[in-house]
Parts: sequence; C-alpha cells; structure tokens
Amino acid sequence: MALNFIKSSKGKNLLSLNGFIYTSDKVSEDRIYWKCENLKKNSGKGRAITSGETVIKENNLHNHSGDAAGIEARIVYGSMKQEAETGRDPCKIYGRKRQEANLTKTSFSS
Ligand SMILES: [Zn+2]
Repeated sequence: MALNFIKSSKGKNLLSLNGFIYTSDKVSEDRIYWKCENLKKNSGKGRAITSGETVIKENNLHNHSGDAAGIEARIVYGSMKQEAETGRDPCKIYGRKRQEANLTKTSFSS
C-alpha cells in the first residue's frame, strides 16, 4: 500500500493513514516515527512507524475517531497548493482536484 504524505500549512510532512494524520516525531536512518496529530490536544497515544513506503507499525491507540473526509480535503488543498506553486494554472487545478475528490467520495456514500 502506498503511503499518503501531505504537507501541512507550515510545510511539514504529514502522514495520512487510515483516517488519521500523523506528524513526524523522530527520523532515524531508515525509519520515520510518527505521532498522531491530536496527540497533544487530547493525550491520545496514536503512533506509527514507517520505512520508505511501508508501514512497519501502527498502534491505533487513538482516543478519537478518524476524519477521512477532512483529511481528503487537506490532501486536495495540499496538492493544489503545490501545483499552483510550480506555476500551473491554479483555477484549472482546483476544478480537477475537486472532481477527483468527488469521485472518491461517491464510493463511500452509496
Ligand atoms: Zn490519534
């Protein structure tokens, strides 16, 4: 399974996994240690470890539910921003990304 990395508004790399967003905690030679983005806010213990494109460990100790729709919106926004920054027409890109998002959503709602 390919991993979804997204950029935060501050330009940090985030990991999107099973409806949760992780921020990088520690980076070793071949592994990245992630902690749930909500860890500080609500003292959850959600953590994950990845190596390259592989999830080595995900403990799933979240004390809150995931937010797949919200994350999808952030992924759309993040990739839109990236493409806009590389000099392509942001209006066209926005429309296309919206379509892609809607297509993925229909598989959930029906
Ligand atoms: Zn969590």
